[in-house]
Amino acid sequence: MLLLAAFALLAVAPPRSAMRVELEPGLVVSLDEGQEIHLEAAPLEGEGLWAFSRRLCGDASASEAIAEANGGISRGLRSGVRYRVPYRLLRPELMVSVARSLFAEDKAREDGWHHTVRGFGELARENLWRVSQWFTGSGKNFPAIRAHNRLSEEELVAGQMLVVPRQLLLPAFRAVLPPPALETADLSSAPQGVEATGGIHSATDPAAPSRYHLDYQKDRKGEYAVYRLGPGEALYSSVVVRFTGRLLADDVNALAKEVALRSGISDVTDIPVGYRVKIPFELLLPEHLPAGHPRRSEYEAAMAASARFGNQVQALGLSGVTVILDAGHGGADSGASFAGVWESLYVYDVMVRVRHLLETYTAANVIVTVQDGDRTLPEDRDVLSFSRRHRVLTTPPYEIETAAIGTNLRWYLANSIYRQRRKKKVDPKKVLFLSLHADSLHPSLRGAMVYVPDARLRGGTYGRSGPVYAARKEYKEAPKVSFSSHSRVQSEGLSRDLADDLLRAFRRHKLAVHKDKPIREKIIRRRQQYVPAVLRYNAVPAKVLLELCNLSNEKDRRLLQTRAQRQKMAQAVVEGLLAYYGVPQRELETLRVAEAAR
Ligand SMILES: [Zn+2]
Repeated sequence: MLLLAAFALLAVAPPRSAMRVELEPGLVVSLDEGQEIHLEAAPLEGEGLWAFSRRLCGDASASEAIAEANGGISRGLRSGVRYRVPYRLLRPELMVSVARSLFAEDKAREDGWHHTVRGFGELARENLWRVSQWFTGSGKNFPAIRAHNRLSEEELVAGQMLVVPRQLLLPAFRAVLPPPALETADLSSAPQGVEATGGIHSATDPAAPSRYHLDYQKDRKGEYAVYRLGPGEALYSSVVVRFTGRLLADDVNALAKEVALRSGISDVTDIPVGYRVKIPFELLLPEHLPAGHPRRSEYEAAMAASARFGNQVQALGLSGVTVILDAGHGGADSGASFAGVWESLYVYDVMVRVRHLLETYTAANVIVTVQDGDRTLPEDRDVLSFSRRHRVLTTPPYEIETAAIGTNLRWYLANSIYRQRRKKKVDPKKVLFLSLHADSLHPSLRGAMVYVPDARLRGGTYGRSGPVYAARKEYKEAPKVSFSSHSRVQSEGLSRDLADDLLRAFRRHKLAVHKDKPIREKIIRRRQQYVPAVLRYNAVPAKVLLELCNLSNEKDRRLLQTRAQRQKMAQAVVEGLLAYYGVPQRELETLRVAEAAR
């Protein structure tokens, strides 16, 4: 009886275990309620303390600490008794095995060790200090882990995922991480080098990996990404807008509800920091899917294909360049309208400012697609007067009564201008189309954003019909359009390059730009996606639709109602065009000085 009892007993009575796992025969891992980890090991036959220490800890120097952990070992190890070896003393590989046996959901990833907090009941909560101790060797590293995971407090909840960054990890854990990928370098600093040259460049790598950390999991409802909410982050702006690409208030709110339901969130206004928000795969933008997912691969291939077509044509002072300027809406179509601010009025004013700057300071040939009555110069007032006299400058002109006809006639007009230029042997890369708009998105969003034409959404043949169209020269010249696959891909690339230059100029002028994905190749609305018509059917290779700001955002709306802001926007647009054609920075400075002196 005595012998049997001794066999089951430990050398010393341990604190109550929260968890015990058998690693292999003779080796049991225990986690006690104080969150201390030990390996309980029985000595091999004839194994003394030193040999025991060497086997489990790598060398004999741990013998003393082992003896101490077992209440002192005076007369050698007894067979049939398990001795406790503190986790911190274990040799590296054994330490990792022990951790893996206790934390089965943990993963070794490129950026560090991904630890999923286990639930051991109220009395045995994991805390950051212990997590820090287990994986970095010292509890004192917990503030760094807390910062890395953007946690505002130390309280951990079961199921929460913590990343222990590579540089903090004990060598034992660092050794089992996959090698770091090269692209994990700081991406935010990459574009600056390009900008500084001021010369001809191609677009920055558009297929850059996601800046945000997502984990991918699966349950019976399907695959989903997990994003842990950081301090101050809201479900709609930091999850829905960022990862699903939805921007319209209705869409954002509907998807926020869907995501909340999927994530078990009952109150969207009170989500704890670090909460694991689940985003179903079908809602994710392709770039946020796991690497190798078919939809992400397809997206990356498309981005890579168009990225080969940056602008290589230089035109100092925009000489020989035709700029087709368009302002959205007008006439009966006010566009977005908030608190008496009509999109049609304000984007028109910015357009005439752009035209004025281009005609005054550059050699560009500027053609506008619309005119408001006889007003062709900027208005010298902040809040603009109402007008519905906009017409599209086709032959004959079209007084805008129907929004869709107004839009379609713009691309018929642009295509006609492009055809004329081609007949005169103008380089196709020296024609640009720029449409100015202002958004009405979720009110949390601010700043400028650019749409470029997605090559994959412009297939087929398209044309309108009806008397309004049939009466116009531009329509009669070519009632139908279709584009080759090559020209669509090239157009996407050139347009992206142009969009990139425009947004850089906006940032230089401290004008707000969307934080997430400021260049978009399509509109996502409800479950549909499409390219705006004015780009979709437009034959000009480099073409963008620039949303100057978001009218539903109060600050954006207030600023747009000032001359100073609209002039700044116009200035930025002109600088963006100059940069696209490789105009050196100093020429931009001259332009700025000239404008300031005016
Ligand atoms: Zn618009």
